[in-house]
Amino acid sequence: MTHTEKPVVLRVAAPVPLRRPFDYLAPEGQSQGSLRPGMRLRVPFGKREITAILLEVVEEASVDAEQLRPALSTLDAEPLLGPSMIALCSWSSDYYQHPIGEVFSAAIPKALREGRGLSETHWRLTTQGKGLPEGALSRARSQAKALSLLQRGEQMSELLKDEGVSSAVLRELATKGLIERCREPASIPSAALEQEGPPLGAEQAQAVEAVEWDGFSSHLLQGVTGSGKTEVYLQLIAACLERGQQALVLIPEIGLTPQTVERFEARFQAPVAVLHSGLSDAQRFAAWQAAQAGTAGIVMGTRSAIFTPLARPGLIVVDEEHDGSYKQQDGFRYSARDVAVKRAQLESCPVILGSATPSLESLENARRERYAHHFLRGRQGGGELPMLETVDLRGLHLNAGISDYLMAAIRDTIENQKRQALLFLNRRGFAPTLQCHSCGWVAGCDHCDARLTVHLRKRCLRCHHCAAQRALPAQCPDCGGTSLLTHGLGTEQTEDFLRSVLRCPVHRVDSDAMRGTEAMQSLLEVAHGKEPCVILGTQMLTKGHHFPAVQLVGVIDADALLYSADFRGEERMAQLVVQVAGRAGRESAGGKVLIQTHYPDDPLFGALRGGHFESITSSLLEKRRSSGLPPYGQLMLLRSDARNEADGEAFLRAVQKEAKPYLPSDCQLIGPLPSAMPRRAGRFRWQLWCLAASRRSAIVAARLLVDRAETLKKPRELSWFIDVDPSDVL
Ligand code: ADP
Ligand code: ZN
Ligand code: ZN
Repeated sequence: MTHTEKPVVLRVAAPVPLRRPFDYLAPEGQSQGSLRPGMRLRVPFGKREITAILLEVVEEASVDAEQLRPALSTLDAEPLLGPSMIALCSWSSDYYQHPIGEVFSAAIPKALREGRGLSETHWRLTTQGKGLPEGALSRARSQAKALSLLQRGEQMSELLKDEGVSSAVLRELATKGLIERCREPASIPSAALEQEGPPLGAEQAQAVEAVEWDGFSSHLLQGVTGSGKTEVYLQLIAACLERGQQALVLIPEIGLTPQTVERFEARFQAPVAVLHSGLSDAQRFAAWQAAQAGTAGIVMGTRSAIFTPLARPGLIVVDEEHDGSYKQQDGFRYSARDVAVKRAQLESCPVILGSATPSLESLENARRERYAHHFLRGRQGGGELPMLETVDLRGLHLNAGISDYLMAAIRDTIENQKRQALLFLNRRGFAPTLQCHSCGWVAGCDHCDARLTVHLRKRCLRCHHCAAQRALPAQCPDCGGTSLLTHGLGTEQTEDFLRSVLRCPVHRVDSDAMRGTEAMQSLLEVAHGKEPCVILGTQMLTKGHHFPAVQLVGVIDADALLYSADFRGEERMAQLVVQVAGRAGRESAGGKVLIQTHYPDDPLFGALRGGHFESITSSLLEKRRSSGLPPYGQLMLLRSDARNEADGEAFLRAVQKEAKPYLPSDCQLIGPLPSAMPRRAGRFRWQLWCLAASRRSAIVAARLLVDRAETLKKPRELSWFIDVDPSDVL
């Protein structure tokens, strides 16, 4: 190097909680031409050595040249992430104002972040191994296990080890000539179908044909449960594989069941790589590598799968796009649905958002023709949509929340029709309040501004907002009175009542009863067994699952949903009613939905009775427009959380004062306001709202707020974060 030539500067994302990239010099002796964005570098960081991702090679450093240290080495010969993934991570970091190194952690599995290499060794069955009869070697358990894993296809040695198959076992099988080592195939996955799909209906065919394959386009596919959305996805995926490209399919957390995966696997010969939070590190690594190398034709997963690199991306599908699980609620608070649309733009491929009840955001995008809007209006197989009826609760006698009218409908369903009834109640536990009849004392949480919920099964009081739990008292702690009353309703109570009056099984589905995947599996067995029974549950019931034998759906307390403090309360209520209604009568004519409420005249119910989800959403959109709330304005919340009530407010007030003069003119700051539940888990929570009229100003405002918050002095224990496009404002 001559002294007129300036050394290049490597700008990297380091896995540290700081909102900026870091600059290094190239490793000594490394030719600059071999350094490409998306490669990993080992770099010195303080006194440590860490693995960072090369973002770009620049000419000017952002710090004094003397301060630059050389990177130690490069870890990859080829970039792990291509330009579109680097752009996606950088965009996400800026848009959600989250440290860039942590954003990259979402895109790269742990083993690689720790500096390990891509896995080179794979194992596969030899012809002899493939010819083994079912259950061969069943006496040598770990050998049998290895064979059954390899019957599904080639496997990374790391994954086999993770499943408890040792190298010794692999060597032994290799000696027997049953398995052999191989490099992972670089070949493009087969586009051949395992199974033909049914011929499409006219509306389905229209949606499929509307998708253009050259470049970015976004589509909203709206159709009730059973209208054939999944079939549209499957046909689009077939077309995508046909083009030699890969499809990325996002599914809500609760919808990603073995049944869902099986439906996709049954259709295609191409392997499906599945990514979700329940995987071991090795399983995740294997699925990631298959996606990144391009050997997996279909990559399917929950929220975080949106950051999986693909060698040849061709299609992105977001099923149940309105689902709350797409928004991460802590740390890196992104919306996988919105990131999916951005990603499709960067990858120049189509993106399909599907739902029976699209979010107001997506509907507005469709109205503005940013998304093409496709409808599937009927149900496949001609199953009718259930009739929706409100039950006016005013003055009616209730048993565990159930009116005689609803009870008669349940009995008719079980006893006469021999079908299943699905009852929805969004409160778990026995009762939400315990009160002393003598002095009026109410059991409250010591750490939150909340009442404790009575759980009779476990004989305890529990706070549903923090981890607090204590034994159910026999006496009032204030006056010693022994007459303690429960008020309000929870799933346990309604379950007890139904058990006492019905002779059929009653299944409770809530997060207390449904711990683990086994419980969910047995629920699906109940649903498909079609024996007459009652299924009673919370929110968990509304998503993704099909209950073919359900004839009656009852919403026990619609009012609790309608009067929420969150501005999205009515939207969620309407989505929920339409979603639960979609579970009724798939295969049986005359399904019925009964909604119990004290406000049957609310226009929302009027529209639901008429079966017009559209008229509800257009009136909700009108309300949002007049208040400037999303989707008409962009919302972000700066939240503080502190032991001392005054500290949190003072901090946000200071941020507001500092930021206000520099705010774009179409932005406004509101607050600081206490959260709907000001104290939670012993800490006081405040929020500063920022509403921006455009996305561009929103990004400027978010940067400004974060910048001021970072530079202001604050008590050490006070913490704060920004939530861009929050899904929950309580
Ligand atoms: P959704 O995803 O909207 O709930 P599905 O795609 O699962 O709907 O379709 C519901 C049922 O109808 C499935 O059993 C599916 O196999 C079947 N189906 C979908 N499209 C067709 C079609 N064009 N012809 C026949 N059956 C279909
Ligand atoms: Zn008392
Ligand atoms: Zn609490």
